[in-house]
Amino acid sequence: QGSRRYTGIVEGCTCDYETADFVNEEVLRPILQELVPAPFFRYFKVKLWCDCPFWPDDGMCRLRDCSVCECPETEFPKPFKKPFQALSADDLKCQEGKSEAAVDRTLDNKSFRGWIEVDNPWTYDDETDNAEMTYVNLQLNPERYTGYVGPSARRIWDAIYTENCPKYPSGEFCPEKKVLYKLISGLHTSISVHIASDYLLDEAKNLWGPNLKLLYDRVLQHPDRVRNLYFSFLFVLRAVTKAADYLEQAEYDTGNPEEDLKTQSLVRQLVYNPKLQSACPLPFNEAKLWQGESGPELMQQIQKQFRNISALMDCVGCEKCRLWGKLQVLGLGTALKILFSVNGQSTKNQPLQLQRNEVIAFLNLLNRLSESVDFVRKMAPQFDKFMEGQ
Ligand code: FAD
Repeated sequence: QGSRRYTGIVEGCTCDYETADFVNEEVLRPILQELVPAPFFRYFKVKLWCDCPFWPDDGMCRLRDCSVCECPETEFPKPFKKPFQALSADDLKCQEGKSEAAVDRTLDNKSFRGWIEVDNPWTYDDETDNAEMTYVNLQLNPERYTGYVGPSARRIWDAIYTENCPKYPSGEFCPEKKVLYKLISGLHTSISVHIASDYLLDEAKNLWGPNLKLLYDRVLQHPDRVRNLYFSFLFVLRAVTKAADYLEQAEYDTGNPEEDLKTQSLVRQLVYNPKLQSACPLPFNEAKLWQGESGPELMQQIQKQFRNISALMDCVGCEKCRLWGKLQVLGLGTALKILFSVNGQSTKNQPLQLQRNEVIAFLNLLNRLSESVDFVRKMAPQFDKFMEGQ
């Protein structure tokens, strides 16, 4: 019945599908729906116009809806304009002598030291690179159908899958490579779900709504794609719970104290949620990975592949798709950094440092994945009826 076509433990995770749906419906949807429109999470800094490092730009977008409306200088929060503070030597020092739990390598609980400039080894460009960056109000630029189809879009997905995260051949057991493939496939599923959930049904009437056929063709008839969506969702959720102390302490200052207190309180409700902690305390167990002798080299190889995927976002030939592609890949890169590494080394003895834009991308990504899981769960029964009528 419905999403119960998927039962049992989500592969590679520690929660089952039922629990993932329960946590999403009962905990995440109500909080995230209020959190992402908050001023802090609404403005994303992005370089939209940049050359594709791999081939000449040939992007074609059919719809007006492809373009992004950028924020005027006066609109985005004043504190976002302040220069970042520099990292002190103390900030970079390892936190030595900390005992490390076998499973939950919780991060240093005094790690938030203000928004700072810091590189993410998993991503290609970052907030420190200010040239030509603009702020975009995400609420005014929803991720939905844009008409970006054909060889340009296909080439990006092909380059991602064939060169940077090949689907593991059956029989090969390298869990780290599996994780990369499943994360990208899960993100791809989520993008397809957003296209299907907000589709231009009638161009002349400018009528938007769900396109169940598209949902079926691209998502529901491929159970592995749905499974990878749940995997990505639980992976990012685990990163959120791992960085709970950091996120709770972070400053959500936008110059509007009332809104900012509300944001802080919603973040607290999200990261220290008793329902979430009892239903699914460890959505994904990252401590099982990178254990083999070749762990460090493998980490570098996978980091390089992910950086390439991040660079490929500059080749997306539709502005709005590029915006959401960049945001979500940065969000995934942030989850990878939280769970696996800081500055190319394991998180073991390193204090976590995130950029403001990374946190914005990270929680917006969680919201996108959560919306997709919710849409798939709700639409699956309707899809049965739809198929009967075909
Ligand atoms: P595609 O979705 O292009 O898929 C290409 C091939 O990849 C498929 O044939 C299949 O073999 C494989 N595949 C598909 N899904 C999965 C999966 N989940 N896991 C593993 N393999 C899979 N279009 C919009 O309208 N709005 C957007 O916001 C948008 N954002 C985009 C963001 C990015 C980064 C990219 C690269 C494209 C975006 N597009 C967007 C385009 C969209 O993703 C499709 O490429 C386009 O709609 C054409 O779809 P398609 O049916 O040819 O298959």
